Amino acid sequence: MKYYSTNKQAPQASLKEAVIKGLAGDKGLFMPEQIKSFTPEQIASMKNKSFHEIAYMVANAFFGEDVEPDVLKRIVEDTLSFDTPVVPVNDNIYSLELYHGPTLAFKDVGARFMARLLGYFIKKEGKEKVNVLVATSGDTGSAVANGFLGVPGIHVYVLYPKGKVSPIQECQFTTLGQNITALEIDGTFDDCQALVKSAFMDAELNNHMKLTSANSINVARFLPQSFYYFHAYAQLARQGKANELVFCVPSGNFGNITAGIFGYYMGLPVKRFIAANNRNDVFLEYLNTGIYNPRPSVSTIANAMDVGYPSNFARIIDLFGQKEDAYTAIKSLVTGYRYTDEEIAETMRKVYNEYGYLLDPHGACGYQALVDNKLAAQETGVFLETAHPAKFKGTVDEILKSDIEIPSKLREFMKGTKQSTNLSKEFSDFRNYLLNQ
Ligand SMILES: *Cc1c(COP(=O)(O)O)cnc(C)c1O
Repeated sequence: MKYYSTNKQAPQASLKEAVIKGLAGDKGLFMPEQIKSFTPEQIASMKNKSFHEIAYMVANAFFGEDVEPDVLKRIVEDTLSFDTPVVPVNDNIYSLELYHGPTLAFKDVGARFMARLLGYFIKKEGKEKVNVLVATSGDTGSAVANGFLGVPGIHVYVLYPKGKVSPIQECQFTTLGQNITALEIDGTFDDCQALVKSAFMDAELNNHMKLTSANSINVARFLPQSFYYFHAYAQLARQGKANELVFCVPSGNFGNITAGIFGYYMGLPVKRFIAANNRNDVFLEYLNTGIYNPRPSVSTIANAMDVGYPSNFARIIDLFGQKEDAYTAIKSLVTGYRYTDEEIAETMRKVYNEYGYLLDPHGACGYQALVDNKLAAQETGVFLETAHPAKFKGTVDEILKSDIEIPSKLREFMKGTKQSTNLSKEFSDFRNYLLNQ
């Protein structure tokens, strides 16, 4: 399969090139040139299949031309060492719990898949080491570091803002050692991101070492996220609840919802999508006005969605633009909602008190958007619960006046010893550091 750039100014790339480069040469995002759709019989057969079998069907549609069947099967099985169950919250609203992986957030799926696919390409070539640079405000760093831990031929540098990530998050990428290096930057998340961007543009540095990114711009990270949409469909189909599905996705960079929309074009039986935002609502504004006006993000309690410039917006425009007028097409499939911190807290309290279900601040946006969307009686709403509430223990306990339990997986990380290197936010320091590696 070939991959083209959303900016259409770069040559097409192979899967291997797209995964190793991350971003196309013209700074566009890679898109598969073809989206294979399943037949209605194949979709119906998913009802009787396991998560591994369903995920392999989807993976095969994207990557089957480029990766041998047994290798792809093993990558899928190794990636999905955990389930993504659909759990009822009330009559017609279900939570798709994506937080049962090693770092308790949905990003584990994409990060683990990408690590294994990249590891496979590097091993096959037997060539140079690849260095993954990732800037994080918390969740991405932990998922990427744990996904790539111990993969031969790859070294990961996690850049994070000193004093601005929670202790639980910090220990998930600073205690690992091996091929994971944590760089504690004296600055903000935006400074970390700027350092990574400058590194990708620095010719001498790129001559010195092979650099790539592991955020949701990478096709190997975001496409595998379509697996669990099909798995959710299968689980609900077994209960006769999948005739009119509405998926609601708490969104920041819009990688997760884009993977769902790819699923839709492959034949996933979904009626419509909802994008739930916190106060960072450039996408909702676009739905309302047709004008896309990215701007700096504001801080909220659902901080993994504090994104002012959603990188996958280009992919959404490209996908729908192939059909007809992109704006009209998007509006007919996707609606949007936005929530303030107070509204998020109110939803968390209400759902906990009325249904005994514990939401994290991101999932709360998803749940509330399904309520506000006023589902019809025959519709089933599914929101993606993107992180375990314990990852945001401080916030959750304050809102619910609770003392929620930290799962053993998280507690294990907290036992490790922190190892990190301090750097200023000056690019020259970061550059020198990398040149000496
Ligand atoms: C990354 C993240 C999101 C946003 O996902 P996108 O793919 O960037 O839209 C939502 N919730 C949590 C907990 C996250 O970590």
